[in-house]
Amino acid sequence: MSLKTSNCARGKTMIGRKSLLAVAICTMISIGLGSYLPGHDGVDVSFVAEAEAAGGVVESRTGVAPDRYVYYPGTEALGRREIRVTACGSGMPAARHGQAATCFLVEFGNGEKILFDIGTGSMDNIAAYMIPWEFLDKVFLTHLHTDHMGDLDSLWAGGWTAGRPGGLKIWGPSGLHPELGTKAAIEGFLKFVAWDKETRSFAISPIPGELEVVEFDYRVVNQKIYDKNGVIIRTIPAIHTGDGPVSYIAEFAGMKVVIGGDTAPNKWFIEYAVDADLVIHEAFMAPGDFVTWYNQPPQLAWRACCAFHTSGQAFGKIMSTIKPVHAVAYHFLNEEATRYNLYEAIRETYGGTLSMATDNMVWNITRDGVKERMAVITDDAWPVAGPTRQGPPQQEGRRAVFSDFSNSGYWLPAFQAQDKALDEYMEKYNLQDQDWRPGLYNRIRNAEKK
Ligand SMILES: [Zn+2]
Ligand SMILES: [Zn+2]
Repeated sequence: MSLKTSNCARGKTMIGRKSLLAVAICTMISIGLGSYLPGHDGVDVSFVAEAEAAGGVVESRTGVAPDRYVYYPGTEALGRREIRVTACGSGMPAARHGQAATCFLVEFGNGEKILFDIGTGSMDNIAAYMIPWEFLDKVFLTHLHTDHMGDLDSLWAGGWTAGRPGGLKIWGPSGLHPELGTKAAIEGFLKFVAWDKETRSFAISPIPGELEVVEFDYRVVNQKIYDKNGVIIRTIPAIHTGDGPVSYIAEFAGMKVVIGGDTAPNKWFIEYAVDADLVIHEAFMAPGDFVTWYNQPPQLAWRACCAFHTSGQAFGKIMSTIKPVHAVAYHFLNEEATRYNLYEAIRETYGGTLSMATDNMVWNITRDGVKERMAVITDDAWPVAGPTRQGPPQQEGRRAVFSDFSNSGYWLPAFQAQDKALDEYMEKYNLQDQDWRPGLYNRIRNAEKK
């Protein structure tokens, strides 16, 4: 049996839960169609000869499984010349418990960590990766659809409440008109969160609420927009529901990872995504599945999948043309009802290595190849402390956020009931110079006198 191509054929390099799925898919196909499938490009698709899911042998009754086929976030240091990509979201705008909307976390061996998109629901996953929030302060947006930026609020405010010492920096494309660019979007976001930002700044610390925007021209082709500590990010245009979307190309230590934004098949991707180690590109479910499962009217489904997104067949054609070391399809609901139709559509035109992305799928990339695994995450992750402490509130010079109306409404007996516990806390953390009680109690008494 040839092991030339496909996720059916990666054998020992492709390990993890998905590989079992792949084996199942490939086995099904093989049973139906013989031992291989000739792809449209004449590439044979065949299945694994051996399924060693755990990647090794347990030598004794007290032994341990030698190779983990899952990834436990926070337990593995990256090699200096290694990249880890995690799908923190891989699904659709109608995000659901099992699959958030688009988000890819790319971690580089030099410590750099960048979020590419932060779609609706993705924070549920990101929060479980055991990374201090201070290290997750850079977001590159492919475009301004909410399924690619919907959880920005949660990253911004959640990290702030969980001790992040600094603000966030957002990169994103311009639009055909100024009000449709990333800068305008973040200005609008700051208006939306005006009350949140001002009151939180007053009570906690204003610095982590800062948002810096780098907007670049969406029309630039393969232009470097980030170059730091050996990590280079380039951008190429994408064509989607209107001008503005882009795809990103990340280069590090001689490796190349392409993060495709929502797009119809486009020439820039074909030209600049070549010679990449990992290429992530959207692949939309078959239009009939959108009608059957997603409640889309037929007249919408065939435009959505195949005019302003990329169908399975078109995805396959792109991949068999640019020939990445490893291809990743995302932006579909990865489940029993839909994954097989999409997989078969891709296999009509592509026989190479392939991951059908779902949330918390992880790829480790080195010059030697790409390894796919699934992250095992907890539902109840706590934030992890980083090396930098968040500063105290800085109320000096800020306008008051309380009026006498609210000040006169506090009920002091309950405050006094917590005084003893707060005294002990103040001692423990040496907060004598930050005791907020005298100020508050004065405000209350003054308001009561009025
Ligand atoms: Zn979109
Ligand atoms: Zn999208």
